[in-house]
Amino acid sequence: MQCRKLRWFAWISGALLTTGLALGCGGKSETQAAVPSSAPGADVPTPAAPARSEEFQLLHNGLLIDGLGGEPIDDGAILIRGQRIAAVSKLADIDLPEDVAVKKTDLRGAAILPGFVDTHVHLLLSGDVDVEEILGTDYAFKVLLAAKHAETSVGAGVTTVRDLLGAPYGLKQAIDSGVVAGPRIQLSISALGPTGGHSDFTLRGSGWDLATLAACPEMPRLVDGADEARKGARALMRAGAGVIKAMATGGTTTPNDDPNFVGLDLDELRAVVKEARNQQVPVAVHAQGLRGVENAIKAGVSSIEHGYGLANSPGAIGAMLDKGIYLVPTLSTAHVSMEGWSEFKRRKRAPLTELQTKSTKHAIRAGVKIAMGTDAGVGPPHGQNLRELQYLVEAGMTPMQAIQAGTKEGAELLGWQEDVGTLEKGKYADIVIAKGNPVEDITLLGNPENILVVIKGGKVVKDRR
Ligand SMILES: [Zn+2]
Repeated sequence: MQCRKLRWFAWISGALLTTGLALGCGGKSETQAAVPSSAPGADVPTPAAPARSEEFQLLHNGLLIDGLGGEPIDDGAILIRGQRIAAVSKLADIDLPEDVAVKKTDLRGAAILPGFVDTHVHLLLSGDVDVEEILGTDYAFKVLLAAKHAETSVGAGVTTVRDLLGAPYGLKQAIDSGVVAGPRIQLSISALGPTGGHSDFTLRGSGWDLATLAACPEMPRLVDGADEARKGARALMRAGAGVIKAMATGGTTTPNDDPNFVGLDLDELRAVVKEARNQQVPVAVHAQGLRGVENAIKAGVSSIEHGYGLANSPGAIGAMLDKGIYLVPTLSTAHVSMEGWSEFKRRKRAPLTELQTKSTKHAIRAGVKIAMGTDAGVGPPHGQNLRELQYLVEAGMTPMQAIQAGTKEGAELLGWQEDVGTLEKGKYADIVIAKGNPVEDITLLGNPENILVVIKGGKVVKDRR
């Protein structure tokens, strides 16, 4: 309410004040309004942004793994100009600029990889989703913690994330403008789901009603019927969502539903997808049981998160292939200790692990497009995101395929493939320098200590050599 009053005052007082105060209330500044909400962000001019640097840097003597799927290249090198990649290949094939100073770094054989993309995180959350804790924790504290999680994630080699519920638009602004360190973020702000489903944390007989929960911005929004679903999608996009998250089935963390229940039905999902498409925004759908998975496929969503029902449905896998829909298996969730979980969560989670492994194996074997996503923040801790690569290999991918799921494929799912995801001329210089050869041992990347250097947009954000 305070923000609205300030905006009215500012509107009356003139354009200059409008910009300043709207920023303070979490709105968009005039400069940012020109940038699509889903844009990767590093070129976004904001008052706090440092001056653009056009200096040249050369990283050489590395094992180059560019994300395109070819054999690693010995004596690989990458030339960076300002925020972007100017050249990438064997050192002998790179023409260095003349009459300009080039900062050279000898990588001594370390691997050069694209910055990784985790397509399913919750930066605002710190582990088990607990309603009492959410209600009892000051929102500013949670946002500051989210900034810390963002810093931890980028230090682990994740230079881009898709936040599927929780991270506020202001966190993206703070990272894009250089106020805090963190990955590029495509964010959903919140998620849409039905009353009583995997969005509704109302505990029976608790005395809490959803009006209280709705005051927490990180809680999902309840929508019932196509009209409300449409309005919900519009409201999220107005708030800055670059992806819409919708619940097509029940899930583990909510008290009144079951992973096999249908969540938003086909009409509701279709309304969401149509609205999101109007604004060229992708739709990520939480779908576990088969009926919800099938509804999501029919509605034409961009990605299915979890997708356990695929374990026993070659038909659904075939339909995903036909429509080019991504699966984000979130295998890391199966490696989280259930100690301290409430009884209903443990009961629901136990049978899912086997289904999750099976569905992922079937999807990989059939050639479904897979993007790496961990669900970090809901179980898996932030900063261990790249352990997911090892789980993907255990489910049937080659190490190179897993690396691509975590780089090129993730970028394509976000629609950001022109800017990130592979090491190619013209893309942002989002680069990870890692110890050893991850194609021979994929588990190396899962340990942040092996992530020696992280560069985002040409700027070193971590260097532990
Ligand atoms: Zn999630």
